[in-house]
Amino acid sequence: MASVTQEASPAGPGEATPATIPVENPATGEVITTVPLMGPDELGQLVQKARRAQPAWAALGFEGRGQILRRAQRWMVDNVERVIDVVVSEAGKTYEDAQTADYGYTVAALGFWAKQAPAYLADEHVPSWNNPIVAGKRLIVRYAPLGVVGVIGPWNYPIANSFGDCIPALAAGNSVVLKPSEVTPLSSLLMAEMMLECGLPEHVFQVATGDGSTGAALIGEVDCVMFTGSTRTGRAVMRAAAERLIPCYLELGGKDPMIVCADADLDRAANAAAYYSMNNGGQVCISVERVYVEEPVYDRFVDKVTENVKRLRQGPPAGRASVDVGAVTFPPQMEVVEGHVQDALDKGARVLVGGQRRPGQGRFYEPTVLVDVDHSMKIMTEETFGPTLPIMKVSDAEEALRLANDTAYGLQASVWTRDIERGEALARRVEAGAVCVNDAQVNYSALNLPMGGWKSSGLGTRHGAGGIRKYTQTQSLLVTRLAPKRDLHMFPYSRLRTRLLHRLLKLLYGRGPRG
Ligand code: NAD
Repeated sequence: MASVTQEASPAGPGEATPATIPVENPATGEVITTVPLMGPDELGQLVQKARRAQPAWAALGFEGRGQILRRAQRWMVDNVERVIDVVVSEAGKTYEDAQTADYGYTVAALGFWAKQAPAYLADEHVPSWNNPIVAGKRLIVRYAPLGVVGVIGPWNYPIANSFGDCIPALAAGNSVVLKPSEVTPLSSLLMAEMMLECGLPEHVFQVATGDGSTGAALIGEVDCVMFTGSTRTGRAVMRAAAERLIPCYLELGGKDPMIVCADADLDRAANAAAYYSMNNGGQVCISVERVYVEEPVYDRFVDKVTENVKRLRQGPPAGRASVDVGAVTFPPQMEVVEGHVQDALDKGARVLVGGQRRPGQGRFYEPTVLVDVDHSMKIMTEETFGPTLPIMKVSDAEEALRLANDTAYGLQASVWTRDIERGEALARRVEAGAVCVNDAQVNYSALNLPMGGWKSSGLGTRHGAGGIRKYTQTQSLLVTRLAPKRDLHMFPYSRLRTRLLHRLLKLLYGRGPRG
């Protein structure tokens, strides 16, 4: 059972009892512990401490910071069972869902950013030959840390999507205050414990437990906000960041389409459809949320997916490979899933597998396959974020493409075909930040490949050079070494020098054919 707690300090005489939030195991319904609900005063203090700790952390340089991140990587390997246990207990997900993403992603990311930060953030020397005013001077672009970065995370990947975004911010020399989801704060507290044990100076990484009000208070204090969560909250976060004029990056919701062409490897496509719609209980921002299948292979594809989903085992996880599909982590999400399925049924859809809440202990929704769906239904147009897979027949890939783009979201998509050239051409026409051909979701593990949403799915990217440079501010340096006492363009102006300057500019830019 999870062994990370952060009980609120008891109230002194005459003081009000500090507010707390219960943390529940969604697979069993039991309350694991409570954590403090931090308010603006506590947030202010945390950020002040972070601000004081940041210069010394930045002064450690890439090598010093990288050493601590690499130590944390080894700590995770040595404590893998504890890490997975904490995630499983508060998210109600399966052992394997915690293993591949929360543990597997993060353990790789610690090493990746330790290694890549110096490469992505090294000083850049840019040429000075393109304008005579600066010719011969040293021009340098420098990436300076922002100060204190606030990271706000969701509940579906309590480590990967919360602490995962703190790693590049730390590697860049910032202090970080992380506000995890109120539903899954224990994994972040474990990461704070890990970082201290691995030698991170005090207050460089802190966790602020609490709800939306805590997140809002954090934005009021920090120098940059990295938010992962719903599109609705993302808008509020951006408004608050705009008030303070601080950088704001948003990784938001999605409604990822899967396009299956008639020439696809149907076994692979069906296995992938079942896995990438149901892994993590379908609570993945980049899960397959809807499928469009070309008419000639539609029936065979539906049969294969249905057989696959029927075999999935669901229930409270009890260690390795005990179940395939875990719980619904966030209580209100159950109503969203039920509402979308009911809305589809009311409008003529048919359920082939599942279609209801699982009776018994814990909060589970059965893995569900729906057909006879269309875009009048919420299940095809709004983010469901549950173990549902609606499959729609289309006449051809052009119709699939039109429907795939008929959405406010633009996070990810996938195209399935044996014709790689055509697949890539179709992928380029999907309005989404990432598109896979004959694959899905795994692009998230390519830490050097940017990941971020178009349209209402977000702003900015994580991973790659942009995924760490966003936590810095560029400083341009111009250094003049050998130079005359007075440059050609300086006072006093004279006719001769004005004429010389004209000639020079004409010589440089005025040659070549006209018209
Ligand atoms: P949410 O928007 O309800 O909450 C996210 C976080 O924001 C929580 O920590 C919450 O306490 C905090 N918050 C709430 N109101 C706030 C406010 N006014 N100011 C600051 N912080 C506030 O999202 P959720 O239900 O926790 O997560 C599910 C959503 O996250 C889904 O839409 C999913 O697609 C999305 N998500 C996106 C990505 C991505 O990379 N694009 C990854 C994971 C999840």
